[in-house]
Amino acid sequence: MQAGPKAEPKDLPAVDRLLREPAVAALLQEHGHTLVAGEARALLEARRGEARAGHLPAGAAAVPALAQALSQAVGQRLAPRLRAVLNLTGTVIHTNLGRALLADAAMQHLIATLAGPNNLEYDLQSGGRGERDSIVEELLTTLTGAEAATVVNNNAAAVLLTIAALASSHEGGKEVIVSRGELVEIGGAFRMPDVMAAAGATLVEVGTTNRTHPHDYERAIGERTALVMKVHTSNYAIQGFTSAVDEAELARIAHARGLPLATDLGSGSLIDLAAHGLPREPTPQDKLAAGCDVVTFSGDKLLGGPQAGLIVGSRAAITRIRKFPLKRALRMSKLPLAALEATLRLYLRPERLVQDLPTLRLLARPAADIRGMATRLLPAVAHAVAPHFTVAVVELAGQIGSGSLPVEQLPSAGLAIAPAGGRGPGRKGAGRALDRLSAALRGLPLPVIGRIADDRLLLDLRCLERPALLVDQLPALGVALGATLGVALGSATDAAAAAAAAAQDAP
Ligand SMILES: *Cc1c(COP(=O)(O)O)cnc(C)c1O
Repeated sequence: MQAGPKAEPKDLPAVDRLLREPAVAALLQEHGHTLVAGEARALLEARRGEARAGHLPAGAAAVPALAQALSQAVGQRLAPRLRAVLNLTGTVIHTNLGRALLADAAMQHLIATLAGPNNLEYDLQSGGRGERDSIVEELLTTLTGAEAATVVNNNAAAVLLTIAALASSHEGGKEVIVSRGELVEIGGAFRMPDVMAAAGATLVEVGTTNRTHPHDYERAIGERTALVMKVHTSNYAIQGFTSAVDEAELARIAHARGLPLATDLGSGSLIDLAAHGLPREPTPQDKLAAGCDVVTFSGDKLLGGPQAGLIVGSRAAITRIRKFPLKRALRMSKLPLAALEATLRLYLRPERLVQDLPTLRLLARPAADIRGMATRLLPAVAHAVAPHFTVAVVELAGQIGSGSLPVEQLPSAGLAIAPAGGRGPGRKGAGRALDRLSAALRGLPLPVIGRIADDRLLLDLRCLERPALLVDQLPALGVALGATLGVALGSATDAAAAAAAAAQDAP
């Protein structure tokens, strides 16, 4: 509690008095009465509570101080909650940080088509009603070799709809056969057994956690079977004494009994990632060629587009899915649809994809490049965090993210920031200093998200394409650390000069 004289509730002005203050008149002029008066009432009520408790310094009850606080409150109310951040975690497709990045082409297409009317469901040739799926269907069939395609809000919806449409509309029964090794939980309550139940299907588990054989499926198929399903174990790996039945074999088993086979790929890449030096991820085109009737995958994982659930497959299966009533409830909005169309179109020029698609560009970035950037940025970052911390260039292991290829690591590099005076257990206050550092980084105008490991804060630079976004904020970081750690730093102008030098070095 601060010392000094305290204000009494009666010292606070009425709302009208505060609104007549000249500084507040400017706020009213800019934002109107509703917002400003609402915030003024809330502010005065909060201050009155503090005054009643004897906590309000006398100065804070004065009209100019209140006007200043009101201006801040209005600014905070208008500030967006969804904000751009710098992802220096080393995980490229980060589920908590918005997953795949939208390509410039997708942004341009959104701006060009969505501010006004568009032909979302209008056929420009016939002048009659059109079908929104047709905006991306041809692209998807061209790229995957499927006969037909449809899209919904996300892949969870795609899986739910596929099971519901193919199983619950089946006359004989609603059983869906899945291997015990593939009963995945994706997170956020998306667990295969629960999805089956929500879709109105009956899950029939076959095989064991580590091994499932063709005869396991053959034995389980009966009168009541509606669908055979395979789920890509995208976020874990079963290793050791294992066996699974591949799609080609499973398609033969299912088709011999007149049943469809669906595969949920999860991420699913439309290109061979090995061509970019990355671990291979199964493609929908492979799965369709192997005989799957339906393949589902995400729009905002390796595909590098907006949140979307893509469903490709045989015309018969897609027609049943499209006609199923749930489809209307899960249909995509025009916003992601426009972004998806533009993203898919980039795949028509595969040679340019690594430049045009930011998610792929970041995934394919060579570690040597990243290390070079780390070396160039080291002096400026070291200057900004001195004298509390020391900085070193380190090799790091990043991840693709979003459950894609969970055991594979991306060789990367970055900066490790450690509390000055050594680290390790026994160093009192080191953990607290790191927490303050990561809070100061998150508090920057463009919040910087790193990760703490091993008593250091690690900034993996794989996803930093424009170093100025970090460098320009270093003076502010120095000031924030000085405030939170309570020691005077090298002058702010020094920090600004070092930052400017680093920015000039950067490509
Ligand atoms: C990620 C994933 C999903 C869910 O996809 P969303 O687009 O996030 O809804 C479903 N199945 C698998 C195997 C996944 O990896």
